[in-house]
Amino acid sequence: MTDAGEPRGVDSPTVVILGRQGSGKGTQSALIVDVFGLVHVSTGDMLRAAVTEKTELGRRAGELMERGELVPDDIMCGIVADRLARDDIVTNGVLLDGFPRTAPQADELESITADTGGIDIALSLEVPVAEVTRRMLDRGRSDDTEDAIRRRLHLYAEQTAPLIEWFSDRDLLTVVDGIGTTDEVFARIRSVLEDVLG
Ligand code: AMP
Repeated sequence: MTDAGEPRGVDSPTVVILGRQGSGKGTQSALIVDVFGLVHVSTGDMLRAAVTEKTELGRRAGELMERGELVPDDIMCGIVADRLARDDIVTNGVLLDGFPRTAPQADELESITADTGGIDIALSLEVPVAEVTRRMLDRGRSDDTEDAIRRRLHLYAEQTAPLIEWFSDRDLLTVVDGIGTTDEVFARIRSVLEDVLG
């Protein structure tokens, strides 16, 4: 472990990616970390690992996740603060996927990164609701019924709208058009990140 207070410097950015389910966020995240050398931190993946490992966190988070509810902010902020203090991220920077999910989490991220250059950019991958619904129905997963999809999209809109405003108030938000092939969308993201990260 490295001291949480150690400066991360310009070469170790903090990038946030936002996007509703079915927006291609997972695919684009993999490309981003590959090209820009960032560490991919998905809080959903971390929580699912905790559930599988049956840790205390997993036990608490698992029930909430099954009900489609958010895990409390203080728990999430603790997990993320610990993760961001580790050497790989201090050295390479991070792509945060699934965090922050609420304005209080964004406030906390701002203070965690205050001494290390702050948040560099939040990318919002925009794909219209009708298109993500079509994509999710096409992939035909058993939990992708029209009702379940509608519910998840509703929750995303409800939870994320204040967050979009939070980033946009601080001039940190860049909206990226998520319609097109994987390569087309990534070319847009790449040019935005090259501008911001150099
Ligand atoms: P995801 O894979 O990002 O869709 O996350 C799956 C589930 O994990 C969510 O529905 C939440 O229950 C929980 N979760 C993930 N990230 C967060 C977060 N930042 N804050 C609260 N709950 C979260």
